[in-house]
Amino acid sequence: MIASVNPFDGVTVKTFEPISDRELERRLDLAHRAFLAHRKTSFADRAAKLLEASRIIESEKSRFGALMTVEMGKTISAAEAEAKKCAWVCRYYAENGEQALAQKPIPTNASRSFVRYEPLGPVLAVMPWNFPFWQVFRFAAPALMAGNTGLLKHASNVPQCALAIEEIFLRAGFPEGVFQTLLIGSSKVAGVIADDRVAAVTLTGSEPAGRSVASHAGQHIKKTVLELGGSDPFIIMPSANLKDAVSTAVKARVINNGQSCIAAKRFIIADAIYDSCEREFVQQMRALKVGDPMDPSTELGPLATEQILADLEDQVQRAVSAGARLLTGGRRVSGGSLTYEPTALADVPRSSPVSCEEFFGPVAMLFRVKDAREAIEVANSTPFGLGASAWTQDPAEQQLFIEGIESGQVFINAMVASDPRVPFGGVKNSGYGRELGTPGIREFVNVKSIWVG
Ligand code: NAP
Repeated sequence: MIASVNPFDGVTVKTFEPISDRELERRLDLAHRAFLAHRKTSFADRAAKLLEASRIIESEKSRFGALMTVEMGKTISAAEAEAKKCAWVCRYYAENGEQALAQKPIPTNASRSFVRYEPLGPVLAVMPWNFPFWQVFRFAAPALMAGNTGLLKHASNVPQCALAIEEIFLRAGFPEGVFQTLLIGSSKVAGVIADDRVAAVTLTGSEPAGRSVASHAGQHIKKTVLELGGSDPFIIMPSANLKDAVSTAVKARVINNGQSCIAAKRFIIADAIYDSCEREFVQQMRALKVGDPMDPSTELGPLATEQILADLEDQVQRAVSAGARLLTGGRRVSGGSLTYEPTALADVPRSSPVSCEEFFGPVAMLFRVKDAREAIEVANSTPFGLGASAWTQDPAEQQLFIEGIESGQVFINAMVASDPRVPFGGVKNSGYGRELGTPGIREFVNVKSIWVG
């Protein structure tokens, strides 16, 4: 079902029919034809349109923010901040994309040798609901600047966001077909990947979806980028500024109502400061203002779907059955919304399978360690490797974390966040490839080597 259902009050706001096979064919054809023209446009032309997209998003951020909140429950302040970040990523690639894709001379014995970066074609983007604008724009802004066209298959619970994004690119002046939304279910994705007109695929979402999309793309030798889940560690050592570390820890756990791939999920705390950090962390989790995501003062709203809530309840129960101590929370909030109490668990046995799962909601696991080396061991003991945050003033410990943590990004004395200027992605089961930064804009290009004898 493709439907907008408000997760706070359960009201079905709007339902949509998936497009017909015929309409899908028309759109694939349009994406291909639009690519043949778009690839020939100048960087200046693409940049002007991206700047206009940025202006539209900035000036209508309240409307776009409200759409996100209604469809997936993030707080209205977070939704408006997300819209602003999308305006930034469009502006950033308008201003910096050309430089990242400029021809690079390579000194050889040829009279001239260099690489050029040429667009690949229509790129299918399979996207999740949790950052329904940001995930799409962080793919689309660099991809369109590089001369590709975009085909968005968004999550089935955020169709209005998906359509709004298509509308933004059209209003910004990109010709029809440069960026299209395909209202299709996931069963249609394999067919789209197989289509000769589709050049590549990017997926942000869960591991099973990533495995499926990558294997279909593999059969057709098509480039993929996978941005999958995470169980990010958040390490606190005795030399850290503990006040900042703990308040950031809480924020990093409950960001986006706990449903962020790079939310901190496992809190690894040195023995010497563990008890005071645990006390303060629990106090701050209890103090969060839980409620209606449309209320600007709300800090924690509902989860996006009943299934996510049910999965989270099951994980907490399994952790407790394995021997974890429930420090606070552990139940759904009464009243019928899909909200789960801010929850903290301690002493989850490290050997239990649940200890290295991704908790997609406001549930923190706290672990006690004796030193930085044990912290790294615990940090790395999951199949994921997306982000990591480590808090210490000790330069030697900082270096240990920078070198020792297996993840796509390590933030020292700061919360993990994506940024248009900095490459973003994971290792291990968190995926491969990068979005953003120079590596990101070069994912969907033909790096063409030219040798003139
Ligand atoms: P999901 O169920 O995998 O859905 C993501 C997208 O994939 C949706 O558009 C979905 O469509 C589609 N999809 C699902 N199964 C598919 C299949 N077998 N073949 C093709 N497409 C398929 O993930 P989610 O629940 O929306 O998102 C949560 C997950 O995303 C978490 O694990 C989170 O950590 C991860 N995530 C990662 C990043 C990152 O940058 N690394 C960022 C955000 C989220 P339907 O909705 O139609 O099923």
